[in-house]
Amino acid sequence: MSAEPFLLSIIVAAYNEEASLGLLVPALRAALDHQRFHYELLLIDDGSSDRTAAIAREFAASDPRIRLIRFSRNFGQQAAITAGLDHARGDAAVVIDADLQDPPELLPEMVRLHLQGYEIVSAQRSHRDGESGLKRLTARFFYFLMRRFVDERMQPQVGDFRLYGPRALAALRSMREQHRFLRGMAAWTGYREIILPFSRPARVAGETKYSLLSMLRFAWTGISSFSALPLRASLMLGVLTAAAGFLYLAYAVYITFVLKTTVHGWTSIVALQVILSGVTLIAVGLLGEYVARIYEESKGRPLYLVEETANLDQAEGIAPKANVTHSAAARAARHE
Ligand code: UDP
Ligand code: MG
Repeated sequence: MSAEPFLLSIIVAAYNEEASLGLLVPALRAALDHQRFHYELLLIDDGSSDRTAAIAREFAASDPRIRLIRFSRNFGQQAAITAGLDHARGDAAVVIDADLQDPPELLPEMVRLHLQGYEIVSAQRSHRDGESGLKRLTARFFYFLMRRFVDERMQPQVGDFRLYGPRALAALRSMREQHRFLRGMAAWTGYREIILPFSRPARVAGETKYSLLSMLRFAWTGISSFSALPLRASLMLGVLTAAAGFLYLAYAVYITFVLKTTVHGWTSIVALQVILSGVTLIAVGLLGEYVARIYEESKGRPLYLVEETANLDQAEGIAPKANVTHSAAARAARHE
């Protein structure tokens, strides 16, 4: 370690967390103020409609370590975390929930493990308190899908509560895809990772922002942005149906020329028609899904827009981090 004390950036995405923020900041102070390392807190207000920004502003006014980035609208948790990662000044950055479900007491241990040489320290939920049976069940299904279809290096029950070292931070900052799935991206880097199990408490206040539907949507983002497997699956399905179709053709020829009983074929024709058009539609729909992703990426839009900041460097400004590597953006820049 250099002479400068180690600086930890704590990234908190907050969407309508007025009830939690007032508890989070004191909890962080209690857990970290007597540690040997320094810390900064990056609060990203993801377009909240409650007093989240006002509360964050007050904290920032009285403590220069607390920095605020307020989005112009709700861009989603993954975009908010991305903004935090983009602006973190620390030697390492850790992402936590605003609702104290990721205990700050764990942070010193995560820093210790990082300093031992682990680039990524992932906290794993070994127990979940105060979450409904449905939430736990969908969460289990979610992690099953992720491991099976996205990356088998992805650990089950590891959310976004994770510490990133400087190399992991640089890698993540260079990945500007629109459909973001940070845990998959972290696994993708292949950097040395350690799992730190913890027991996940219930939210201190407020309600979960993730309904069953938004969990499913998030799972689909994970699967479709990390693999072409759904496309391949639709191809396989097509091949299988086509093979079955040929077998049926052989049977049809047989009954026409050998048995000569072709009159009653109506049911099977209708059935085949329905199955085949179903399979075709599924395949086309999947293709459309990927084409839509390509379309969205090709626009090269920034991942978020910042409305307001507090305690951020002047140079960092509020200009969006553009998808600089992208050709459309580069072309637009050259024409200017
Ligand atoms: N969050 C966000 N933008 C959103 C939804 C959620 O920044 O659109 C934040 C939220 O404020 C919280 C974190 O993401 O700090 C995780 O959300 P939540 O606690 O509702 O999810 P859960 O822990 O129930 O899975
Ligand atoms: Mg939570």
